[in-house]
Amino acid sequence: MYQDPVQWRIEVDRLACSGTGLCLGTAHGRMRLEAGRARPVDELISPDDGVMDAAETCPMEAITVREATTGEVLAPLR
Ligand code: SF4
Repeated sequence: MYQDPVQWRIEVDRLACSGTGLCLGTAHGRMRLEAGRARPVDELISPDDGVMDAAETCPMEAITVREATTGEVLAPLR
């Protein structure tokens, strides 16, 4: 049976984000700053280790990565 490829969803809590820009370097090409806060370039992505790292290292814990279909939190793992 055909199965869709796994996709992840990137969420940014714009109230928590302090606009450090750290994630732009960690998740290269996946994040951008808009009005001083981070936003995903695309909310739905193929699995990407850089995005996982960004969620784990964001100083404000503002980034959440979920498995798009189930909503399971993949990062950060607390
Ligand atoms: S690393 Fe975290 S606090 Fe810094 S810009 Fe990215 S989401 Fe915002």
